[in-house]
Amino acid sequence: MADTTEQHAGKTIHAGGEWLEAVSGATREIIDPADALPFAVVAEGDEKDTDIAVAAARAAFDGGEAGGGAGVRGEGAWPRTPVAERAALLRRVADLLVRDRERLGLLESRDAGKTVEEGRVDIDCVADAFRYFADLVAAEAPGRVVDAGTPDVHSVVVHEPVGVCALITPWNYPLLQASWKIAPALAAGNTFVVKPSEITPLTTIALIDLLVEAGLPAGVANIVTGPGHTVGARLAEHPDVDLVSFTGGLVSGTKVAQAAAVTVKKVALELGGKNPNVVFADACATEGGFDTAVDQALNAAFIHSGQVCSAGSRLIVEETVRERFVAELARRAAKIRLGRGTEDGVECGPLVSEQQRARTESYVAGALAEGAVLRSGGRRPEPSAERPATGYFYEPTVLDQCHREMTVVREEVFGPVLTVETFRTEDEAVALANDTDYGLAGAVWTTDAGRARRVAGRLRHGTVWINDFHPYLPQAEWGGFGKSGVGRELGPAGLAEYREAKHVYQNLAPGPVRWFAG
Ligand code: NAD
Repeated sequence: MADTTEQHAGKTIHAGGEWLEAVSGATREIIDPADALPFAVVAEGDEKDTDIAVAAARAAFDGGEAGGGAGVRGEGAWPRTPVAERAALLRRVADLLVRDRERLGLLESRDAGKTVEEGRVDIDCVADAFRYFADLVAAEAPGRVVDAGTPDVHSVVVHEPVGVCALITPWNYPLLQASWKIAPALAAGNTFVVKPSEITPLTTIALIDLLVEAGLPAGVANIVTGPGHTVGARLAEHPDVDLVSFTGGLVSGTKVAQAAAVTVKKVALELGGKNPNVVFADACATEGGFDTAVDQALNAAFIHSGQVCSAGSRLIVEETVRERFVAELARRAAKIRLGRGTEDGVECGPLVSEQQRARTESYVAGALAEGAVLRSGGRRPEPSAERPATGYFYEPTVLDQCHREMTVVREEVFGPVLTVETFRTEDEAVALANDTDYGLAGAVWTTDAGRARRVAGRLRHGTVWINDFHPYLPQAEWGGFGKSGVGRELGPAGLAEYREAKHVYQNLAPGPVRWFAG
């Protein structure tokens, strides 16, 4: 077995500057979803390892160096490091990510089952996140002077790090999701314990090495590899954790919020989505317009086999163009080249696990039983040289004649399944697009500028694309309405999550108040 984490020899828990085995000695094999074979071994941490990592992060935040003993909260070396130095460190990390782009892109591809090119793009986006938050903190004023209405008072609002941050991340974009938390947490002066998904921890382990190489003090960056119900749950409830930022599914996110409430932690949740892609007939009126709308609908639904929180998994298309649109979409979906992400020419990898494929299969079976019409996919592909029989492959699936009561339309599949609904009027299109418990992202396709603005204004989703699908900008907030989450990542609000505001009010001419006469 080629162990890509062999430099750690199974010691993948990082606490207080040391790489450690799990206290229990337990390990986990990391599986390549393209052939179901193990290719790395990591430590399987639990509550004990979590406590060790949190103690290290706490000591680094409060007392400076790891093991530096109890200090006054926030007096550690990193929270007090000048902003310019923190920004410089983040920029060094971005440079190291660029240096290691090929290695990390390949590792992400094998771990999460995506193509190597997707892995490379992920690493570029991770580097962008580090640069963005470096620039953001470096450019900030140190505080905001408040006009107290009298020259005898000097009043200023400053922003301080929250403290020890628990960062819990999913398997679909392992390093990217981690970077949207780690970069702002560090920029703001926090220490952290990150818990990557137990099935895709490898690039997050590699990032910790880069943070150390960039010069981050011991104890600031800690990682515990292990399952959600032990490591994740302990982080969420831990009394020495000040903030928990979670990206993952609704069920786990709800548990995290409940556990965190007991100790009144700050909580940020990035959860799932059931994202509408609304196509008006006018967008398809020209050959070029039709081709673009179909092509982007395909990309919206099937990139990374639909394992994307913002996947455009609900096509809501105007009735008059439905048949032509769906026919072309199904034709192209059937041609998507599935295979091992490291093979040349492969366009889409497998699902991440057998569990995820079984879940997808059960949603498709349920949809067909509820009356959906299969237009493409709906099965496992034939094995081939680039597609081992043991891999977790599933064909891109288009389900026509769907309606809002169907489970497959309401619940997040997180697989390569696109449902098709139709509308006749603008009001109907908006009502369908908003008829979801989630509210992460959505798109509208139209050549009518007024309609584009009207519909975008009415959609209850955290990101709305007009004539596009999927792009995001590190400068712009990302997050959801409704059950898609609480709080925002990226943008200024993505930094604010990791800070406490403090008002410092100085009386320049103190005197007695005489509220009490005696
Ligand atoms: P998941 O909820 O199963 O796991 C996410 C993380 O939480 C993992 O690290 C897991 O170990 C941990 N976890 C599980 N149970 C826990 C518990 N009780 N306490 C604490 N931690 C726990 O999600 P997943 O299957 O890894 O990821 C897919 C989900 O993530 C999808 O719903 C997707 O939409 C969502 N997601 C959202 C965004 C976003 O930006 N909104 C981005 C990516 C993924």
